[in-house]
Amino acid sequence: MIVDTHAHLNMEDYDKDIEAVLGRAQKNEVLKVMVIGMDEPSNHRALELAARYDMLYATVGVHPGYVDEGTTEHLESLIHQGKVVAIGECGLDLYWRQDNLELQKKVFIEQIELAVKHNLPLVIHTRSSFEETYQCLLPYRGKVTGVFHCFSSNLNDAKRAIDLGFYIGIDGPITFKKALELTEIVTYIDLKHILVETDSPYLAPMPYRGKRNEPGYTKYVVEKIAEIKGMTPEAVMNQTTRNAHELFKLGGYST
Ligand SMILES: [Zn+2]
Repeated sequence: MIVDTHAHLNMEDYDKDIEAVLGRAQKNEVLKVMVIGMDEPSNHRALELAARYDMLYATVGVHPGYVDEGTTEHLESLIHQGKVVAIGECGLDLYWRQDNLELQKKVFIEQIELAVKHNLPLVIHTRSSFEETYQCLLPYRGKVTGVFHCFSSNLNDAKRAIDLGFYIGIDGPITFKKALELTEIVTYIDLKHILVETDSPYLAPMPYRGKRNEPGYTKYVVEKIAEIKGMTPEAVMNQTTRNAHELFKLGGYST
């Protein structure tokens, strides 16, 4: 079994064919998918989907790209509804915006506090902002865990994230030709610190690069990691699936 730990099936891209998308995921052994919220409407939609489909789980959060439009106030009332397995995605993004860093930090820290209070892991978005994100998390070392989703920094930062107790999320870009840094990370980081994900509908792996991504394509991420590490896809599948169950408490799993 594979778990896609990061998919935005709550976006309108899937309104017309979600059942076909989930059917293709199951054909590729992707039997559990985490639907990731980014703002109030998408958090509600993630919960609706998780309630409707057994294989789906939800996260609720405020993405750094949405900090101007909404606050974290609504999150507390959602946390105990249904299958919420994490807070996020939340974090910092200095690639798209640099002018509102203080607001991004405030909203991120509110969500770290919520995760600590409710004993939930964090799904973290960080782009061009590893150091700032790391500094926000440092005071909570040992109190909170989670994943640096779609990891995009270097090997040294990956080691620092792991040292904080976090997992490294690997997605489609690992299959791209120029993924030198990611390949180095996957080579040197133990599989027990790695989660696989798609970030659907974004970042489709080869051979679907540029197309709409979907959870079934997590299979290509698993296969690429296996190739880099010289392991079988089954071994990669088993360990990353065990990691996902441990971190997000998705229910029974044993290999
Ligand atoms: Zn995302």
